[in-house]
Amino acid sequence: MATLSFPRPQAATLAGEPRQERLRDRFGRAITDLRLSVTDRCNYRCVYCRTGEEGAIYSELATEDYLRMARILISLGIEKIRLTGGEPLLRSGLVEMVRELAELRTAFLPDGTPTATGQPVDLALTTNGHLLDLLAEPLKRAGLGRVTVSMDAVEPETFAAITRVPKSFERVLSGVRKAAEVGLGPVKINCVLLRGFNDHQIEAFAEFSRRESVIVRFIEFMPLEEDRSWRPDTVVRMEELIDRLNAFRPLVELPPHAASETARRYTFDDGLGEIGVIAPVSRPFCGHCSRIRITSDGKLRTCLFSQSDYDLYGRMLRGGTDEELRAYIREIVFQKEERHHIGEPGFEKPSRNMVHIGG
Ligand code: SAM
Repeated sequence: MATLSFPRPQAATLAGEPRQERLRDRFGRAITDLRLSVTDRCNYRCVYCRTGEEGAIYSELATEDYLRMARILISLGIEKIRLTGGEPLLRSGLVEMVRELAELRTAFLPDGTPTATGQPVDLALTTNGHLLDLLAEPLKRAGLGRVTVSMDAVEPETFAAITRVPKSFERVLSGVRKAAEVGLGPVKINCVLLRGFNDHQIEAFAEFSRRESVIVRFIEFMPLEEDRSWRPDTVVRMEELIDRLNAFRPLVELPPHAASETARRYTFDDGLGEIGVIAPVSRPFCGHCSRIRITSDGKLRTCLFSQSDYDLYGRMLRGGTDEELRAYIREIVFQKEERHHIGEPGFEKPSRNMVHIGG
């Protein structure tokens, strides 16, 4: 008996595009996480990050350019977008951008199967918190999921000495509380520890986590600063940090949420407070890296420590179609670096510093 066969309809993904393979590099790592820098302006001059304003040239793209890049990357398997900068809350039109991003849906199921219905993209933002009290609520209403606030001290003098901005500490504190109140939690606090600047704050941060019900994450200082002042002995390494915290109160390790999670998670023996330790210098996590970055001027970067970046925006300007841009992204991502080489002989600092990459 003759069988009838019909051509299988070309299933459409979310944006009506043909189905894609999930983005992977040559080591088989699935790339699911995008850091999107929406400005390289910043209202702080943190001692470990920026030198100053003089002669600074800034670059931002139009909102629709970032949105197009995000849509294309989501069609390739990006599931999480973290908005960053510079300081993203300085970006005009941010709330509107968040609203549009929050409407995008992932193109793959967790097992990697393409889907036409997808989950909402996991949308987060990293901020210094100076404007958060004002913007937390509108951002939440626009669809933002979570915030991470960078805060390198929990008392005003050290805070001002590091950020080189007076009287911001109280604003950041009320921003953190506002974010928790409107549901942008659990709020994470990122603290870069610098020996001689804020390492006396470790125990105070532990108390802060317990008192404010926020997750405090300590980050090892990386050689990404503008003034090239990084030295190995400025880094407060994970081992030393864990000893200090254990002496404050015994730590209990918590299971990771995902293999690609950058932080080791701990609570204390009474279950109060949560501490994350991000140790890119002493315990690199490159083997599970799922991240790529887009700089505020539209360059694609495959590693914080890349020596080059790739001009995705240039391709868009020259009229690249979505399909051409996808092919370009695949080609670049395939060559993602295996790992960084911090602390090894011959280590070269990356072609850009943190504020111009997007942390
Ligand atoms: N302005 C936002 C903020 O303050 O969170 C986003 C951009 S900032 C560059 C992102 C994160 O990078 C912050 O948590 C900051 O502390 C961290 N960072 C900057 N320079 C760093 C360095 N050299 N080593 C480790 N972390 C760094």
